[in-house]
Amino acid sequence: MQLLSNYGSALLLIANDPHIRIREMAASLGVSERSAHSIVADLERSGYLARRREGRRNSYTLAPTREVVMPAGPERNLGTFLGALSPVCAPTVESSFDDVFAASWIPTAVIGGDGLVRRVNAAACALLARPERELLARSWSDFTLAEDVEQWRETVLDVLNGREVRFAQRRLVRSDGSHVWVSLNVSMEPTSDGTSVNLLIHVPDITDQKRLEEQVDSFNFYDALTGLANRTLLRERLAETLVDARATGLTVGVITLRLEHFRHLYATLGDNRADELMRRVAIRLATTIGERDIAGRLSDDVFAVQCCDLSGDESGVVAQSLWHAFRAPFVIGERQVSVAVSIGVTVATSGSEVDQLLRDSAVAADRAHDHGGKLVVFSDAALGRTAQRRSDLIAGLFSALSGGELSVHFQPIVEISSSRIIGAEALLRWRHPEWGDVGPAEFIPLAEELGLIGEMGEWVLREALAQVARWDALGATLYVAVNVSVQQVLTTDLVSVVSRALEDTDLPGTRLVLELTESVLMEDERFFSSIATELKELGVSLAIDDFGTGFSSLGRLRDLPVDELKIDRGFIRGLGIDSRDSTLVETIIAMARSLRLSVTAEGIETESQLDYLRTLDCQRGQGYLFGRPVDGQSFERLLTERTSAVA
Ligand code: C2E
Ligand code: MG
Ligand code: MG
Repeated sequence: MQLLSNYGSALLLIANDPHIRIREMAASLGVSERSAHSIVADLERSGYLARRREGRRNSYTLAPTREVVMPAGPERNLGTFLGALSPVCAPTVESSFDDVFAASWIPTAVIGGDGLVRRVNAAACALLARPERELLARSWSDFTLAEDVEQWRETVLDVLNGREVRFAQRRLVRSDGSHVWVSLNVSMEPTSDGTSVNLLIHVPDITDQKRLEEQVDSFNFYDALTGLANRTLLRERLAETLVDARATGLTVGVITLRLEHFRHLYATLGDNRADELMRRVAIRLATTIGERDIAGRLSDDVFAVQCCDLSGDESGVVAQSLWHAFRAPFVIGERQVSVAVSIGVTVATSGSEVDQLLRDSAVAADRAHDHGGKLVVFSDAALGRTAQRRSDLIAGLFSALSGGELSVHFQPIVEISSSRIIGAEALLRWRHPEWGDVGPAEFIPLAEELGLIGEMGEWVLREALAQVARWDALGATLYVAVNVSVQQVLTTDLVSVVSRALEDTDLPGTRLVLELTESVLMEDERFFSSIATELKELGVSLAIDDFGTGFSSLGRLRDLPVDELKIDRGFIRGLGIDSRDSTLVETIIAMARSLRLSVTAEGIETESQLDYLRTLDCQRGQGYLFGRPVDGQSFERLLTERTSAVA
C-alpha cells in the first residue's frame, strides 16, 4: 500500500508542478531518487504520465483527459487509489466504460474470446495508423511484429491463467509497415453477460522512450565522437573472444595506438577541426584493420584494436599496417595534418585476462612512446623472437637513413677474359649502433613493406653515381650496377629519379646499370616495358639479377628490353660439380649470346669456377674471388693498387 500511495503522491506533485525534479519528488515522497525514478517510469509506462523534454529537463504532464482508465485485475487497487485522488485525476469510476474507452488517450483494444479484435478506440487507430474497420475482427497478431508474435501468444496464455501482464515491451506494425514500441498491458474482463471473457489491452506508445534508451545504450557502449566501441564494449568483446579462442584455438592480440601530441593538436587546430581529425583517425583505424578485428577508443588519445586469427600473425601484421597507414597525413579543411602514433602490441596466452592484455599492450605503446613515439613495440612475453626482431628492425629502419647508419659498399665486376675491373655493384649496408650489421636480405623487404624503399633506393643511386664520378677522377672509367626493388618500380617515378640523379652528377646514362629481379618483370610486363624503354633512352642498361631463380622463360627475354643477365650464384656454386647446374649455366650463356645479351656470373668463389666460365665464354664475373663488397674508400684503394700493378 505504501507503494500505491507513492504513486498517487507522485501524480499529485506532478499535477502541481509539471517541471518537478526527481530529486524534489524523492524528498517529498521520502524515497530514494532511484525509487522516484522508477515510480515516474512506471506511471509513464502505464500511460498516466506523459514526458516532454524541455531543454535539459524533463517535464511531466498527466494524461490529457485527466481520466485514468480503471485497470482491472491486480491493478484495480492502483486504479481505485488513483480514482480517489480527485481532483487531480478525475475518477472514472462513475463514467461509463464506453465513454472512457472512447475518450482515453491510451490506445486500447478489446479482444474477444475468439481471439479477434472486438473494439478499438481512436487512440489505438491513430497508433496503428489504420481506420477502425481495418482493425476489427482481425487477430491481434496481425498487428504484432512477426518476431513478437510468439510472445503475444504466451501473453494471452498467461492472462488466461490469471497472471498479470504489465509493461511488456512489444512492437506493433503500422499500416505503412513501420513499427511502434508499446508498453503492453493485458487484463481479463468478463463479458457483460458473464458467460465469457474478453481481453482488455492498453498499449501506450513508448517509441520515444525506447529511442532514448537506445541512445543511452549507445552512450554506454560507443564513443560519442568517433562511433567506435568504447572501453566497456571493447572489454566485453575481448572477454567473449578470449572464451571463444580457448575453444577454437584462435590467437587473440591487442594493439594500443596512442596519438602523440594530442593536446597540441587540439590547441593548434581548434576543437572542431581536431574533432574532425579524431573521426578521420577512427575511420583510418577501422578501415586498416581486418574484418574480424574490433577497434575502440579507450580515452581521448588512446585507441585499441582487438585482433584474432588462426595463424597468430594478425596482430603483428595489423600493427605494421596501422603504423604504415598513419604515416600518411590527414587532410582537414585545407590543412594537411600529420599524426604521430606510438603502437604497442600484445598477444594473449592461455591464461590471459582482459585487463592484463589491455595493460600489456598499453605498456608496449608506452615503450614505443619512450623510443620517440614512432615505433611498433611488442610486449615481450607474448610474442616470439621473430616478431620482436621484426619490430626492432622496423623501429631501427626509420632512423637508419637519417642517423647515418646506412652506407653503400662496392663489389668489383670483372671482365673475365682480361681480369680487368670494369664496374662495381653497389650494395646497401646497415650498421646499427647496438646490433651491428644487418644484412640487406633481412631489411630490404621490410623497407619495401614500410614504404621506405623509394627514399633509400634514391639515396643508394646517388651515392653510387657520386662514387662513379670519384673513380673518373682517379682515371678509372667504370660503370656502377644499382639494385632496384619491385616496390621501387611500382611506387616511385623511377625514370625521373634516375634522370635527375644523372643530371646532378653530370654522368651519361651509360655508366649506370639497374639490376631488377625477375619478379619485377612478372608484376606488370607492359608497365615494365614502358619504363625500361624510357630508361634506355637515357642510356641506362638493365640487368636481370639472380637470373634462373624466377619464373621468366628464356623465350620471353627476346621481347623484353633488357641488356644483361646476372646468373644467380646458386648455379655457379655447382659449376663443374653438379651436371644440372653446369648444363643450365651453359644454356643460359648460349642463349644470352644469341639474344645479344651480356652475361655476368655472380658469386664466383674459386679458380675452378672461373676456369669453367671461361670455357663457356662468359663475359663478366663477380664474386669473392675478385673481391668482397667494400666501402668506397677501400674500393678506390683496390682500384689504384690494381692500376699500379698493371702499370
Ligand atoms: P644481389 O643483388 O644478388 O647481390 C649479390 C649478393 O651476393 C650480395 O649480397 C653480395 O655480397 C653477395 N655475394 C657476392 N659475391 C659473393 C660470393 O662470391 N659468395 C657469396 N656467398 N656471396 C656473394 P648482399 O650484399 O647480402 O645483398 C643481398 C641482396 O640484397 C642483393 O642481392 C640485392 O638483391 C639486395 N640489395 C643489396 N643492396 C640493395 C639495394 O641498394 N637496393 C635493393 N633494392 N636491393 C639491394
Ligand atoms: Mg644485384
Ligand atoms: Mg644477384
